[in-house]
Amino acid sequence: MRIISAETSLVGVIGHPISHSLSPVMHNAALQEMNLNWCYLAIPCETKNLKQVIHALRAIDCKGLNITIPHKEKSLLMCKEISYAANEIGAINTLIPNLDGSWNGDNTDVEGFISPLKLKDWNKKKAILLGSGGSARAVITGLKLLNFKEIIVVGRQSNKLQLFINDMSSEYENSKNFSPLIKGILEHDVELIEYIKNADLIVNATPVGMNKNTKYNLDSINIPLGEEIWKNLENTTTLYDLIYTPRPTPWLLNAAKKGCNTIDGLEMLVQQGAASMKLWSGFKEIPIEIMRQAAKNHLKNYS
Ligand code: NAP
Repeated sequence: MRIISAETSLVGVIGHPISHSLSPVMHNAALQEMNLNWCYLAIPCETKNLKQVIHALRAIDCKGLNITIPHKEKSLLMCKEISYAANEIGAINTLIPNLDGSWNGDNTDVEGFISPLKLKDWNKKKAILLGSGGSARAVITGLKLLNFKEIIVVGRQSNKLQLFINDMSSEYENSKNFSPLIKGILEHDVELIEYIKNADLIVNATPVGMNKNTKYNLDSINIPLGEEIWKNLENTTTLYDLIYTPRPTPWLLNAAKKGCNTIDGLEMLVQQGAASMKLWSGFKEIPIEIMRQAAKNHLKNYS
């Protein structure tokens, strides 16, 4: 058991609300294993206080911060330098202290997202992405890095979807990798059926299915894409749900019944956390299995 002493340093996550974050459980388990005299706290902060809190934490020599909803975009403006991933996404989830009293920003959500996909070669494959919010931006950046050749983004609001497509496509023109086709489509468009039949990967980056009271009812509206389109899924398609409560989500349960490979959001959460810890600590090896188990145990006991 670690003892908090006068020499203990602070790390943590800033968000609002933040009381349900799994990050303190995961990170404190890792810190104990790494024998680092740091303590990781969930720090609630309203938007109006964000700048003041981030500067104050740097002034008291905070060793590193995660940033979560709703501060990921605004915090980017408080960084001296930002990484390639943070620039592509337009948001940060990690602040790393500089010696001159400033912060650098990074986004480890991309690394977290692609980590469970790395076991397979996705070169020139086709993906469908459900949702065009904050995490969808990290997903697109990850899919580009994996060299997908086609990304179909499914949304429910035409204007919002088009803005997202324009933004993610134009940002890509400045980067070095192979350029995928990125196209938006509305969720009830019949054209979607053909895309589903041919998809190698479908990613859910919407909160649909996250309802705590979700029963495992496969007819429920809690299945992204709905019943009709669901019938066209091939068992060679991988389904990746960013949600990790409940485990499994009804969507992944349905997919597994059809023989599809499934991935849930827990690994993304663990891997983005481990990547942040690496940036703060400088350690080459992070005890990822300890973080994974701590998160799983917490979900089992408290969800
Ligand atoms: P967000 O920025 O609020 O975006 C949500 C997206 O989902 C928006 O495009 C929204 O569409 C769409 N959406 C919401 N309700 C919908 C519905 N009923 N039907 C169809 N589309 C709907 O949220 P986010 O931060 O991207 O998070 C999305 C999900 O990913 C959440 O469940 C979150 O917990 C999960 N997540 C997991 C991790 C992880 O580490 N595993 C990391 C980040 C996020 P509109 O634009 O039309 O509103």
